[in-house]
Amino acid sequence: MDSYGPLMEFFGGAYEPAVAKPNVADLTLGNPQDMPLAEVVGALEKWARPRGKDHFAYKMNVPEAQRAVVAGLRERRGITYQIDDVFMTNGAFAGLTVTIGAVCDPGDEVIYISPPWFFYDGLIRAFGAKAVSVKVDLKTFDLDLDAIERAITPRTRAIIVNSPNNPTGRLYPRATLDRLAAILSAASRRNGRTIYLLSDEAYHRILFDGRRYESPTESYPSSILIYTYGKQLLTPGERIGYLALPSTMPSAEREQLRGAIAMAQMVGGWLWPNAVLQYAVADLERISIDVAHLQRKRDRVVRALREAGYALQPPDGTFYLLPKSPWPDDWAFTRFLGERDVYVLPGTVADVPGYFRISLTASDAMIDRALPAFAAAARERVPA
Ligand code: PMP
Repeated sequence: MDSYGPLMEFFGGAYEPAVAKPNVADLTLGNPQDMPLAEVVGALEKWARPRGKDHFAYKMNVPEAQRAVVAGLRERRGITYQIDDVFMTNGAFAGLTVTIGAVCDPGDEVIYISPPWFFYDGLIRAFGAKAVSVKVDLKTFDLDLDAIERAITPRTRAIIVNSPNNPTGRLYPRATLDRLAAILSAASRRNGRTIYLLSDEAYHRILFDGRRYESPTESYPSSILIYTYGKQLLTPGERIGYLALPSTMPSAEREQLRGAIAMAQMVGGWLWPNAVLQYAVADLERISIDVAHLQRKRDRVVRALREAGYALQPPDGTFYLLPKSPWPDDWAFTRFLGERDVYVLPGTVADVPGYFRISLTASDAMIDRALPAFAAAARERVPA
């Protein structure tokens, strides 16, 4: 997929001026629409105060941050990562850039699942690698394992898996991840070269209905875990996250990757988070947006959309809902909503024409205003 055409058309066009108007309902992006959490503000203020002459010196991986990541993963997953296998990054964006740069040579192929997060295609191609898109099963939003197997070639170097998924909201079950792992192991053996699984876990702490997180890294040892605190804290402008190599990865492979990752961070333009954010990680680990509130917003929107006649699958997690557009042309449908001051993302921008994406990070007041507009739009005749 060349995602840039529709993406630039959408964001380069009328979107920003439109949502700057007062009283619009902006359900387009995973951006905050309420004030930031006071605890986040407190942590940043606390760590902005210098504690010594090196407080603002060049920082690679700050050991306090690495230790806080290891402790958090141990507490939530019961798995111990080595401190040296945790690399602090400017969010998942840089985590993906660094990982692709570390594992890929020009001409390698990287598989990603579609509908994808907008930037996978571009990030892969930026390294001279070939981006190979594999569709999910649109009936269930589950991975299509046969299609993934068919897409693997001798040049396949990596696959990006994002669970729970933006934009479908699907959390892939353990049985599916185990089968995927068997396919990747067999193909790596056949190729005589490891196929890495890049596990984009940006939303792993945004799960509904008491679900337990199933990490692909626990099914497949040659995985790299990629995380951002931007979702858990709803602070996407504060760039902090990490990548981590699981201890189940053979140690020779980990040793080689550690050097490649550090080099990719350096030549990528010092892709380490700033010092203040790294010191704050131990505090930030314990802070989260109110996921129960997000779940109540999901339930409300799902109920109202279904009553209005929309077809959709409720998300297992993430910020997003991906209903079918009642009009085959999702651009026309979202434009129609925009004319009524309700903004959502046309599915075409995320390689899923005929759908539209709603972000639950909208405020309650925005959702109040959007629901009647969704119901009215569903009653409109499809334009000829
Ligand atoms: N992966 C996915 C699936 C995302 O949705 C996002 C953010 N929208 C990112 C990665 C990047 O996250 P960040 O900007 O916090 O680095």
